[in-house]
Amino acid sequence: MTGRLRALTIVLATVVASQAWASDRGIHAVRYVMGTWCDLVIFDPDPAPDVVQSAFREIARLDDVLSSWNPESEVSRLNASAGRGPQPVSVDLANVAEESAALCTLTGGAFDPSVASLLRAWGFYTESPGLPAPAIGRDAASHVGCNRVTVRRDPRTIALADGAALDFGAIGKGYAVDRALAMLRARGVTRAKIDFGSSSLGYLGDIDGGWPVVISDPRDRDNPLFTLRITGGAVSTSSQRERSFERDGRRFGHIFDPRLGRPVESSLMSVTVIAPRGSTADSLSTALFVMGAAQGKRVINGMPGVGAVFVEQRANDLLITTAGKLSRLTRLSK
Ligand code: ADP
Ligand code: MG
Repeated sequence: MTGRLRALTIVLATVVASQAWASDRGIHAVRYVMGTWCDLVIFDPDPAPDVVQSAFREIARLDDVLSSWNPESEVSRLNASAGRGPQPVSVDLANVAEESAALCTLTGGAFDPSVASLLRAWGFYTESPGLPAPAIGRDAASHVGCNRVTVRRDPRTIALADGAALDFGAIGKGYAVDRALAMLRARGVTRAKIDFGSSSLGYLGDIDGGWPVVISDPRDRDNPLFTLRITGGAVSTSSQRERSFERDGRRFGHIFDPRLGRPVESSLMSVTVIAPRGSTADSLSTALFVMGAAQGKRVINGMPGVGAVFVEQRANDLLITTAGKLSRLTRLSK
């Protein structure tokens, strides 16, 4: 990991098409995994023939550990053992749970992997989410909280309080990006990109001028607002638009405020985080979406190499603000 942990350099550049820099000489592969399309580009000429398969296999393996949608996954089996004391877990499950627990504490519960019971009550593990009956919503909310999960290292266990359940939808893809890029590097690849439909993406190595990170209009993903350039690192964007439903003129999305026990409803439309690691970028983009721009900025100011772009709706305009490593690029708008 250390190679990717160096500080990020970020420069504002003109808008460029996101695929224009993909080389013809490497490999470009796409696979449906972790519930979404995953794009893998290896820029090195003549990489070993099976590296693409190994990278996708690693991501699929992590899906079998981390998916709350799959009843056979390791996390689903752990959830089924809630209230029965510490359960032995794999290294990957412990890593993700530990990082999530730390962020839960740091954000005062704005980010909380025990949000699973709320997601279930609101039907977000089905294709047709909806408002729960009030008593069911209240019961689900009562099982959420940083203190309902105990992660131990030696021996490696996780204990869930009775009724509690874990969901790693906000961090799993970022963690998978990190593991798959580490695997590619170990196989001799020097330059690659893994991209989960832009919701989570990571880079291995550098290109001249930096990798382009396009910030799009959340109302129309095909409309780029501006482009940042980064060296190495990872990027994640969170928004309520990805999965949501409308009821009585209100839109309810898949990102919950665990402290309120309901989906976040705010003028914030998207948060993009740039960070040295995929798991950091992914989890923080969700956390900052819950916290909002003002509170979120305070959280990331102390984090080395981390930057964020907040896109808010103000009447018919978009208000774009940046924080952390990007703080000098404030109030860019089209
Ligand atoms: P995407 O699924 O598009 O990558 P995010 O990374 O923002 O989007 O993750 C959203 C997912 O995170 C939700 O679908 C849910 O599984 C989970 N989640 C929702 N609210 C929270 C929260 N407050 N803390 C932690 N995880 C959350
Ligand atoms: Mg996330």
